[in-house]
Amino acid sequence: MRARARNRSIQRQITSLGMVLTGLVLTVFALGMVAHEIANRRQTLETSMTTEAEIIGANSAAAVTFGNETEANEILASLAASPDVLQARIFVPGGRVLGAYSPRTTSADCHRLSPAGRGWELRWCGAVLYRPILLHGETVGTLAMEVGLASTYRALAGTLAFSVLAAALAFGLSIPLWRRVAARVAGPLTRLVDITERVSREQDFRLRAPAGGSREVDALARGFNQMMAQLQQRDERLNHELSQRRQAEVRLNDLAYFDNVTGLHNRHYFRERIDAAVGRAARDGGSCALIYIDLDGFKQVNDSLGHDRGDEMLREVGRRLTETLRRSDGVCRLGGDEFAVIIDDNGHAAQVEAVAAKLVEVVAAPYRLGDRTAYVSASIGACLYPDDADDRDSLMRHADGAMYRAKQGGKNAYCLHHAGGDEPPSRHQQIEQTLRSALDAGQFHLAFQPQVAIPPDGAAGQRATVLGFEALLRWQHPTLGPVGPAEFIPIAEANGMIVPLGEWVLSESCKRLVLWRKARPALRLSVNLSARQLASVDAVERLCQVLRSSGLPPGAVELELTETLLVDRSDTMLARLHHLRQAGFGLAIDDFGTGYSSLAYLDSFPITTLKIDRAFVRNLSGAAHGDAIARAIVAIGDALEVEVIAEGIETPAQAAALRAMGCRLGQGYLFAPPMSEAEAARWIGVEATAGLPV
Ligand code: C2E
Ligand code: MG
Ligand code: MG
Repeated sequence: MRARARNRSIQRQITSLGMVLTGLVLTVFALGMVAHEIANRRQTLETSMTTEAEIIGANSAAAVTFGNETEANEILASLAASPDVLQARIFVPGGRVLGAYSPRTTSADCHRLSPAGRGWELRWCGAVLYRPILLHGETVGTLAMEVGLASTYRALAGTLAFSVLAAALAFGLSIPLWRRVAARVAGPLTRLVDITERVSREQDFRLRAPAGGSREVDALARGFNQMMAQLQQRDERLNHELSQRRQAEVRLNDLAYFDNVTGLHNRHYFRERIDAAVGRAARDGGSCALIYIDLDGFKQVNDSLGHDRGDEMLREVGRRLTETLRRSDGVCRLGGDEFAVIIDDNGHAAQVEAVAAKLVEVVAAPYRLGDRTAYVSASIGACLYPDDADDRDSLMRHADGAMYRAKQGGKNAYCLHHAGGDEPPSRHQQIEQTLRSALDAGQFHLAFQPQVAIPPDGAAGQRATVLGFEALLRWQHPTLGPVGPAEFIPIAEANGMIVPLGEWVLSESCKRLVLWRKARPALRLSVNLSARQLASVDAVERLCQVLRSSGLPPGAVELELTETLLVDRSDTMLARLHHLRQAGFGLAIDDFGTGYSSLAYLDSFPITTLKIDRAFVRNLSGAAHGDAIARAIVAIGDALEVEVIAEGIETPAQAAALRAMGCRLGQGYLFAPPMSEAEAARWIGVEATAGLPV
């Protein structure tokens, strides 16, 4: 019960308490009123009985003295005027009743009037008064009178009813009053409690308690608000510390699992990932593959361009790997210039090989590092679980071994581990693997094929007037022997190696031309240019730079572009061609007629020469319309006012036919095959160009 009371709101408790108090006060007040009324009534009754008894006593003194019963009875009968009188007796000494009055039967009366009675006596049923009857100061008899209390009780009941009504009214009126009091006293406290509950529910320490109500509540609110301010500060500090700790955890996690240069996963993560991949493959009967990637020549980049540029390159390598692979493939940097890829999707050897080939290609593309362009390649080894390895360790060992073989084979290549043993790489792979190092190793040299004015009689050999040479690249491979450009140029184009290679060809052939022009000042040179060399404005500018630094005049060097290059009719390409022209290069379209150049656009390119492809030259002597295309090309050249050179002239008849159709310039075995530098020098009657290693 008490506990229930404690659980009630303070407002209700105050209201209840107030009402109980009011009830008590009103009850006491009503009881007091009744007690007072009773006392009053008693006093009044006694006084009125005494007065009446004295009158009766005085009137009956003579009758008593003379023992006159009749008179005594008559005097007593006057009491009939007082309806409350229940009975009366006049006793004479000796106890005899002289007179009696009784309006009703006395049996119901509560007193038995006795001659010995004295004074005043009050009972519930009535009040009795004994009064001596005096004559000349002497007692001659006794008057006994009993009065009923009915009217007194009625009056009392009225008073009681009035008091109860008044008290009930007062009580009723006090209820709203107490409620207001309770609300006033407890309201601020209740609001404080509400705020406290909201704080604990919403954990919002910015909430504050409103002031007001009373001094005590104000003090409580102030104390509460101070506490909240402290809590808020502590909460903010805690949140700050928590967020810092979270950041620190993320950072630690990053340090633990990520490489901070490339943002890729690190060796630590790699170990977990490869374990998971092998575990999953073993459990599900699937497969996975591990690809190790080691950069070739990264040290030189680091040494020559600095570590910042080196880091930039590593980041770019990481980006290219990530972009090339699928999201599900895990790319990690194991440290230094080593990367690893985990292919975790039941791939087959062919798929892994395709991925490895693609990675070799993307890594070999040029890197723009600040204002420099740099190159790096990748040696890649791959191994499959469970085809080539039984467990994680052998998987890693074999992938590493395969990667080592790719490096040994000449770098810039991939090798797959085969459970059967180390298969020798294919010829294509060997070329791919050794191409990059070949330039540094000095395995390339140039051949020069004369371009001549076709003699009117189609005469062969040295009798034709030489106008210049076409520089043709040659590769003396250490194990494969001579490798023709038709074989290695497409590979060099695919892996980007053509750019440094092309620069080297231009630079070397310019050096020869400078020397030869001392004896034959009008001598020209044609250098083949790959589309890839025009892909960057940087590479174009470097070609111009080579020409500028050679000191050769405009027109001395012509670049041979293939027709496919002209398919790109963008403003950028056009701007680059103009750039080359302005730098002093002549521009020839090589193998004209075999590509896709639209005659409509030919006019817009700043070309200087068309080279009739040898396929059309070969047909000259045969079919009836065999010479039609060659004739058309000559006509186009005339119309565009550019020179026309026929290549692949092998017979005097071809030379004569070309000459007849107006083609004045030619190149081919009829005059001379591509020759070594010394032979070329001799061919034009110049001493061998000693001191220039090629
Ligand atoms: P191309 O520019 O059309 O070079 C002419 C090719 O025809 C040369 O082959 C040359 O040896 C050959 N040739 C010359 N006269 C005759 C002839 O009378 N009959 C026959 N059947 N062939 C003849 P090569 O040297 O094997 O070069 C092949 C191609 O490789 C070149 O075709 C050129 O597109 C490319 N190439 C060669 N050197 C370079 C280079 O330094 N840079 C670039 N980008 N490409 C090069
Ligand atoms: Mg050519
Ligand atoms: Mg050609």
